[in-house]
Amino acid sequence: MSLQTVDDALEVLLSQVNVQNRTERRPLSDVDGCVLSEDIAAPINVPPFANSAMDGYAVRAADVRVDAPLKVTQIIAAGREGEPHKPATASRIFTGAPLPSGADAILIQEDVELHGDHIVPRATVTAGEHIRPEGQDMRRGSTVLEKGRRLMPADLALAASVGLSELPVFTPLKIALLSTGDELVEPPATLAPGQIFNSNRRALAASMARLGFEPLDLGIVPDDEQITQRRLLEAANSADVVISTGGVSVGDRDFVKQAVEASGRLAIWKLAIKPGKPLAFGETHGKPFFGLPGNPVSSLVTFLALARPFLLKMQGATQFRSELWPGIAAFDFEGGSRQEYLRVQAKPGHDGIKLHPFAEQGSGVMSSLAWATALAVIEPGRVVREGDRVDYLSLQF
Ligand code: AMP
Ligand code: MG
Repeated sequence: MSLQTVDDALEVLLSQVNVQNRTERRPLSDVDGCVLSEDIAAPINVPPFANSAMDGYAVRAADVRVDAPLKVTQIIAAGREGEPHKPATASRIFTGAPLPSGADAILIQEDVELHGDHIVPRATVTAGEHIRPEGQDMRRGSTVLEKGRRLMPADLALAASVGLSELPVFTPLKIALLSTGDELVEPPATLAPGQIFNSNRRALAASMARLGFEPLDLGIVPDDEQITQRRLLEAANSADVVISTGGVSVGDRDFVKQAVEASGRLAIWKLAIKPGKPLAFGETHGKPFFGLPGNPVSSLVTFLALARPFLLKMQGATQFRSELWPGIAAFDFEGGSRQEYLRVQAKPGHDGIKLHPFAEQGSGVMSSLAWATALAVIEPGRVVREGDRVDYLSLQF
């Protein structure tokens, strides 16, 4: 059986997304990473009044001639409103203070000499200079943040700058996480022979939280069909999506397959992805289900390449696809039958971003992923020579 390409699998996944429709209003302190559920229009102009961009003197530009003194008639500090500006005078003004009516320019303090209560201009100005007009940044009524936007720190400052204290967002998806495998134990513990520490869930739960989801870590599930069934029901009842790791190969002791089939439907895809390959997708008790590989590197790579876009789309985000950036290979590589996700460090070089590979690319080598800042994506069969362009997926998100 030929392997399914990652792009094809992704399109199938994305075509099956039901965008969730629960929304809520949250305070600005609690929306970073959430997806906006409505367009946001600015209720006010920003800045709300014309103001000075510099420390200096508000003037009428036409009154200013080099060496012709002007009397300073008032002082306007930020947060105060001055008197109307008198023609042929200067109003002392500080950055951010409202421009007095009648003045049309700011003569910066570096361009004057102060003599008692007069200034002597050493330069002229033109009308509008060093003034931030009302509404320069945002106009009242204009859309400043769009529905479907995943909120970033600057968006929160923008919302606050138009006077908002909360925003409407899609309720973050709850994602249940099950780690399957009799060999797994939670740290800290002493490993008995044959046991390993459960590590996958830490990377997956942290990735989910960073993406604005709510991970619901349901711990380890032993390799037992009945227990797996029970835990799946529990997961589906308490979350919007269920994700498990391990147990989806066709090994005799991989019970996830049977348990999901019994509670919904399941397709096991032999994906042309390395690391990765087996990925299960379906439904358990009416909730979307992902069965990620047990292998720690594979589980995170398949989560990022395939589950992340699905989840972001389901969350209501308009930009749900992972962005690929152009890099330059600092290595030679011959692609095999699968799309490869090489663990690399992406570093600025003189002609672009250079991709430096980790020496040991085995799928069991977690240190490769911890060292990496990016995944270089290499198409099946492609021969890459040092200096060739290679696209990469950033691991910093
Ligand atoms: P499986 O997909 O269950 O056959 O597991 C594949 C490999 O990944 C095996 O070597 C497992 O021991 C390992 N593995 C499975 N789950 C985890 C986990 N949660 N943390 C670390 N390694 C795991
Ligand atoms: Mg297993």
